[in-house]
Amino acid sequence: MAQYGDLNYKEASFIDHERIEHILEMTKNVSDEAIDGVIEKAKKREGLELEDVAILLQAHSIEQIDKIYTLASEIKQSIYGNRVVLFAPLYVSNYCVNNCLYCGYKRDNKFHRRKLNEAEIREEVRILERMGHKRLALEAGEDPVNCDIDYIIDTLRIIYDEASEKSNIRRVNVNIASTTVENYKKLHAANIGTYILFQETYHKPNYEIMHPKSLKGDYAYHLTAFDRAMQAGIDDVGAGVLFGLADHRFEVLALMLHNRHLEENYGVGFHTISVPRLKKAEGMDLEDFPHIIDDETFKKIVAILRIAVPFTGLILSTRETQEIRKELLHHGVSQISAGSCTGVGGYKESEHGKEVSQFKVSDERSPMEIIKGLIEDGFIPSYCTSCYRMGRTGDRFMQLAKSGQIGHVCQPNALMTLKEYALDYGDADLNAQVDMFISNEIEKIKNEDTKQVVVKGLADLTSGQRDIFL
Ligand code: SAM
Repeated sequence: MAQYGDLNYKEASFIDHERIEHILEMTKNVSDEAIDGVIEKAKKREGLELEDVAILLQAHSIEQIDKIYTLASEIKQSIYGNRVVLFAPLYVSNYCVNNCLYCGYKRDNKFHRRKLNEAEIREEVRILERMGHKRLALEAGEDPVNCDIDYIIDTLRIIYDEASEKSNIRRVNVNIASTTVENYKKLHAANIGTYILFQETYHKPNYEIMHPKSLKGDYAYHLTAFDRAMQAGIDDVGAGVLFGLADHRFEVLALMLHNRHLEENYGVGFHTISVPRLKKAEGMDLEDFPHIIDDETFKKIVAILRIAVPFTGLILSTRETQEIRKELLHHGVSQISAGSCTGVGGYKESEHGKEVSQFKVSDERSPMEIIKGLIEDGFIPSYCTSCYRMGRTGDRFMQLAKSGQIGHVCQPNALMTLKEYALDYGDADLNAQVDMFISNEIEKIKNEDTKQVVVKGLADLTSGQRDIFL
């Protein structure tokens, strides 16, 4: 066992840089046959070695990439079906003691810093509820004095407590800086959904350049955050790489090693992986980042992740355009944000026509527009939060996913939460679109008992009941 807590974290060596570099070197000139071999192996769903993932990353011809896309789509469809989970970020504090070269919140950027007070949090949550959201990702900069763990815990309590006449927030994922086992225990007790933390880059030399003279600059402490979270009882963790800070091939292999480390030591790996790409922000210039990846490489990475970790959710934010999001939903993405503001108090300010943000977003459609688009493309928009509320987290979720059962829960819940959204927030067009779509989707449910549960659930929603789920 190699678990890293508050004291021994400096010993963490599971991101073996030499091994990754060696594998990347050995697979530099692989043949098309070798890539085909890995694709065939991946079809059996028995897991891939690090070398296999490195080989897939070398695919360049249109034919090979098409094969990767096709397999990624098949895997996604067979595990999750056609549902797509929706969420929104909520930025509560932009105080930050760090100076990350890429981030608009860096301490060298001089602007008025603030955190939301209780009334402001309630106001943001009410706006998000009116948009139909049920699942949030709570975001904050790192500042142990101005934004300590107690502020975050209070914020969670306020969010869960705030309910409009139609709805409430049912799950809050939390994206805050790496912290101690004791603080993670507090987060766990406060009922967080997934604890999300992006490694930004797994490449230690680049990490240290990107995070100069700061708390976040301690690579090993950041890297072992999920160890401490899991020791504190949090079993759903969401990883991510900020693509553009180092060689993307290195990052993908390192993600695999990190996931394996958690599986071996805690019995469960990442619940989700986010794939943010570097965007323009205040006080930085994209030209200073030589590892920025183009759209084609980005799409390939997402499809390869889908193949390499079939049971891990893949999250795509509004940093990406409508077009890329649409394409990537076919190649593996299972969760997207909608209607996002990336600034503190941003929802209220954008209602008043102001713009505030941590970085630039590209998909600016409202949730209703996104939902209409998803249905047109054959996806079921889902506001489901049931797994976490039914205790299907950590290895219990993974067992269901691996046995192929998760889709049987996801599809019905997706349909029922879509109906609930349409009844409460949809316009006449959406309601007509949803009714027709749902009646087609119900016909696809093979299990007669499940079908009847959904039919009854939809009728109960229409007659006024809410929050129905399996
Ligand atoms: N303070 C927390 C931490 O240290 O992890 C939360 C970070 S922040 C609110 C959320 C994420 O935004 C970061 O982890 C980073 O990956 C991303 N981010 C920062 N600057 C960005 C940029 N210019 N473009 C895209 N994503 C960015």
